[in-house]
Amino acid sequence: MSWKRENIQNEEEFGLHASGRIPVAGYDEIDAAWCLAFMRRVRDCALATIDADGTPNVRIIDIMMVKDGLPYFLMPRGKAVHAEICANPHVAIVAQTTDYRTCRLKGVAERVADEAEHRALIDEMFEQNPSMNEIYPGEERYICDAFRITRGAGEFFDLGQKPIVRKAFEVGGAPAHEGGFCVMEECTSCGTCVDVCPSQCITWDADGLAFIEQRNCLHCGLCYENCPAEAIEKR
Ligand code: SF4
Ligand code: SF4
Repeated sequence: MSWKRENIQNEEEFGLHASGRIPVAGYDEIDAAWCLAFMRRVRDCALATIDADGTPNVRIIDIMMVKDGLPYFLMPRGKAVHAEICANPHVAIVAQTTDYRTCRLKGVAERVADEAEHRALIDEMFEQNPSMNEIYPGEERYICDAFRITRGAGEFFDLGQKPIVRKAFEVGGAPAHEGGFCVMEECTSCGTCVDVCPSQCITWDADGLAFIEQRNCLHCGLCYENCPAEAIEKR
């Protein structure tokens, strides 16, 4: 049996379809807790770090646990990525399903300083991921450090439906995520942006100005590049 077989044992708990896919949430259901549960369910995430040369590195990690609104992962102290995180704790993770749903989070990796608490966290992570005992049996587990990602801003993005759906979230007290395109009062209501938008997410507001439905916007920039009045702002 694959050591990752446990990944798919709790399908009922995670409310999976028979296909093994995570169901599409209603828009209001997509909050930080849902997004972290999504990442935990996908489990294998790409982790981006910055090395001493200032160049990026990316590896695959497992989200081992979500606790008190933060995602946790383990990292053995001998790995180069451990040293990179200790030197520069700014990290980014991203998880994607086979049906093009993505969740990304950028924040600060933090190791719990209190040693007793740190050990208890490792034990909890091994309890939630029993296959880890096959890799690090007994006391060998403590060669790993437990990191949690805090002060993070993230976004869920569903490219598998039309129009696409996106929603930002924050963890650990990070400032709200801002981004994308918005229409300013210089709009002349010419309709060009409405015509070029591939997501068909530009409508008209009560004043007759173009209005971008942010939840469905691809951030492609076509409206921005084609507006003759330069009335679309890139945040
Ligand atoms: S293209 Fe520019 S001016 Fe024309 S409707 Fe869109 S925002 Fe307004
Ligand atoms: S950025 Fe792209 S998807 Fe978003 S409103 Fe503009 S044209 Fe549409």
